Amino acid sequence: MPGILFDLDGVFYVGGDPIPGAADALAWVCGRRIPHCFLTNTTSRPRSALASKLAGIGITVEPDAILTPPVAASRWIREHVEGSVVLFVPEATRAEFQELPLAKGEDREKVGAVVLGDLGEDWDFSTLNRAFRFLMQYPRPSLIALGMTRYWQAPEEGLRIDVGPYVKALEYAAGVEPVVLGKPAIAFFDIALSMIGCAAGESVMIGDDIRGDIAGAQAAGINGILVKTGKFRPTDLQGDVRPTAVLDSVAELPRWWNERYGVASCRLRP
Ligand SMILES: [Mg+2]
Repeated sequence: MPGILFDLDGVFYVGGDPIPGAADALAWVCGRRIPHCFLTNTTSRPRSALASKLAGIGITVEPDAILTPPVAASRWIREHVEGSVVLFVPEATRAEFQELPLAKGEDREKVGAVVLGDLGEDWDFSTLNRAFRFLMQYPRPSLIALGMTRYWQAPEEGLRIDVGPYVKALEYAAGVEPVVLGKPAIAFFDIALSMIGCAAGESVMIGDDIRGDIAGAQAAGINGILVKTGKFRPTDLQGDVRPTAVLDSVAELPRWWNERYGVASCRLRP
């Protein structure tokens, strides 16, 4: 069964404004019972807040259908990690990990995984060094990164370092390879596919980011459909990434799907 992975920001809304026709396109997907879910690299807001934002622009989405890096990390840890988990994440993100065995974070406590998020102002030498010491235990715990974003633009004060540089610092210091959960990491797309029970080759990812959405999906064996909304720029099409299709917006999805896969059936043609 083919499925659809949707990016949120730039596909359904830009800032607080809905993309025209996006709600109708999603209603069409639901009406056709095409399996789908939503992927976002947002770590600062829980899924319920994202679902509320979508509801505000007339789009109904169950929080459980949204995959964020903390949710993916929690799933990955349940499947791959034995032992407790120590979190270096903001307070708002901790709720997504509450079902896991959490370490107290005390010195010399044995842990199975170290999770790194965007701690912002709460990073200092002793915090980073505490994470480093956990990673130097034997057997080595898994280092889980909630994305690898290098920096972001804060509304008033300007650029701010994100989680990526801290992951790199610990990777270098401890000599460990991080598991990155967030677009464009393949593991993130794999978890999304398992959420909807669909195979990669038959499914599509719809997004506005030529690298994070399209190149990432294609590396995971998923068809990448680029929309010309959100952060899309015409120069995106002059690089080395070749999307499976380019649509003016997600509103064109039903027409594209019917042309390519047929009106009567959701099965993809070979
Ligand atoms: Mg986007």
